[in-house]
Amino acid sequence: MNKNRIFLSPPEMGGNEQNYIKQVFESNYIAPLGAFVDRFEESIKSYTQCSHALALSSGTAALHLALRVTGVRAGDIVLASSFTFIGSVAAILYQKAEPVFIDSDNSWNLSPLLLKKALTMLKKPPKALILTHLYGQCAQLQEIIEICRNENIILIEDAAESLGAFYHNKSSGTFGDFGVFSFNGNKIITTSGGGMLLSPYKDFIEQARFLSTQAKEPFIHYEHNTYGYNYRLSNILAAIGVGQMEVLEQRVLKRRQIFEWYAQELEGCHIEFMPELPNTRGNRWLSTIKLPAHINPKTVVELFEKHNIETRPLWKPMHLQPLFTDTQKVIDGTSEELFLHGLCLPSGGAMNKEQVCFVADILKDIIRKS
Ligand SMILES: *Cc1c(COP(=O)(O)O)cnc(C)c1O
Repeated sequence: MNKNRIFLSPPEMGGNEQNYIKQVFESNYIAPLGAFVDRFEESIKSYTQCSHALALSSGTAALHLALRVTGVRAGDIVLASSFTFIGSVAAILYQKAEPVFIDSDNSWNLSPLLLKKALTMLKKPPKALILTHLYGQCAQLQEIIEICRNENIILIEDAAESLGAFYHNKSSGTFGDFGVFSFNGNKIITTSGGGMLLSPYKDFIEQARFLSTQAKEPFIHYEHNTYGYNYRLSNILAAIGVGQMEVLEQRVLKRRQIFEWYAQELEGCHIEFMPELPNTRGNRWLSTIKLPAHINPKTVVELFEKHNIETRPLWKPMHLQPLFTDTQKVIDGTSEELFLHGLCLPSGGAMNKEQVCFVADILKDIIRKS
């Protein structure tokens, strides 16, 4: 990777990963499954205090298995945050179910009010809700859980961006019937690619484990009553994950520090930051801002590019994607507004204060000249 470039969220190894990979090579378990897969699952269970976890090849795969295990099938309605990344909702299409997108509120995450409104408008009861904890900040879980309980909706937390975030002192991803983490290269910790499915329900995780390894029935010959997937995480990548889990807490504290530096440096610039709900600790995976209304984030991205700095607009909401023009939605313009004015700032854990100030100074300059 280009040494001088300031990336949005590059991988950052903790130090023990290569040693663990070496151990995998020495054992010759260059396979999906092996001791490090178990260790990685254990470390996630111990960090989150969730009783069951399954290491997978991606967060998207984990979301897919959650829907499959839940029995979501063709024609079922699955509610989802509109303001999210495509990986959050693609699995709804894999299952040939119908997504219905819900807008955000001033928390930037899913609006419980619009969720309630959606329930009054649907032609049949939804099976599940995929709730994203955007940019590592917890959504309004208490309100949303209550709605899901009352309406019998399976709650799947898309915690792909929020490993290390806590809501009322409990880990994100452990509130729903399922929680999903991603270890893609840009996330707060990474295995270069990977995911984890969590659930308080042993049966669900056992079923997902079965489906993730081609749904092989327990015979010595190969017998299949249903079809599965090849979704398991390799032992090599799990070794990286074990090393990364050792530094997770450090990474969260550092990203929160980076956010604080930005907040100090950009005070008085008419910039809004993504809020953090009371009684929660986000991981500040990315420091995200809403720019003053007259500034176009795309221009800002280009100007930063001239300084070899990577920035990005906020996620383009799902209901604005050409793929979903005919999809039902319950929106009030909040996420569109954030998309039109929002920006993700470089937030990699290896950034020092000097680099953060450098980025902030460029932004201040852009704002002054606009
Ligand atoms: C990264 C991400 C995913 C997908 O995870 P992969 O491991 O890349 O498949 C899903 N949802 C959100 C919100 C994400 O940011």
